Amino acid sequence: MRYLVTGGAGYVGSHLVAEIRDRGGEVVVVDNFVTGHRDAVLPGVRLVEGDVGDAATLQAALAFGPFEAVFHFAARSLVGESMRDPMLYFRENVGKGAILIDSCVRGGVRKFVFSSTAALFGVPGEGPIGETAPIAPVSVYGESKAMIERMLAWAGRVHGLRGACLRYFNAAGADAAGRLGEDHRPETHLIPLAIDAALGRRPPLEVFGTDFPTPDGTCIRDYIHVADLADAHLRVLTRLDAGSVAYNLGTGRGHSVLEVLRAVEAVGGRAVPHCLAGRRAGDPANLVASSARIAAETGWAPRRAALEAIVASAWAWRVAHPDGFAA
Ligand code: UDP
Repeated sequence: MRYLVTGGAGYVGSHLVAEIRDRGGEVVVVDNFVTGHRDAVLPGVRLVEGDVGDAATLQAALAFGPFEAVFHFAARSLVGESMRDPMLYFRENVGKGAILIDSCVRGGVRKFVFSSTAALFGVPGEGPIGETAPIAPVSVYGESKAMIERMLAWAGRVHGLRGACLRYFNAAGADAAGRLGEDHRPETHLIPLAIDAALGRRPPLEVFGTDFPTPDGTCIRDYIHVADLADAHLRVLTRLDAGSVAYNLGTGRGHSVLEVLRAVEAVGGRAVPHCLAGRRAGDPANLVASSARIAAETGWAPRRAALEAIVASAWAWRVAHPDGFAA
């Protein structure tokens, strides 16, 4: 089986590529390396360097097909940046997404798996968030992903493209074989920041908000291992034979910021220097997925759901690669 992966040099994309290779599949990666890393493209993977908004790049990549499916990860993904420069996100994510979907339709691609986000749901109500929760993003980033979901729905209706929209909650952790890990620049995510604080590689971590309506006052998130996300991407392919789908992807268990810090301390055997700070704009108190639908329809279940296991894989990668991938 051969697959096209856009953003295959990025965090979640590179872990999917590794999973496909480990299962004996072939991969063509399209990446412009604006946020991806050259060293995250594993040996044996064909690389087409370029932009998903560039039709010639896409034509060159699609020429290596036919592809069983296209996995689309390439995107801008910083909420704060999207609120400072909304049109950047509409141009990069939505405009280029339209060019990619169009090229795929013209190129005869039948299945398209899209990297979507819990940010679609804005500030949801109580309880685990299922697929019927209202789509009401409160960031331009979330809005841009919602717009791509809508474009895919229309590509399905008009052209018969089968789309799977996978709304990740908090992707975390690293490749068990140590080949890949999380390396965002700048890093904004809790687990890598907490690990670096514990390793003394950055100032004390700021805990954003201690007055949320949660048991310890800090935000609750649903952390899901990237390898479990990768597995979900491959499982939905069979399900797409029966039509397009959208799935929320998490473990169904939430952990507070302070619980994450304790997990990092337990795994690393060192304190995580931190200070209590004010809330970060736009953070909902509690985001936990219900992944009952994908479980029922594909048999998917997170296999690395324990927070300490997720943190342990992230810790191992960071200790082995204190500066991340080579610059
Ligand atoms: N967080 C924090 N300090 C940081 C970074 C994150 O307290 O330096 C909190 C953040 O407010 C949220 C949780 O950790 O409640 C997870 O944040 P992250 O940015 O990793 O993911 P998000 O939930 O925003 O997608």
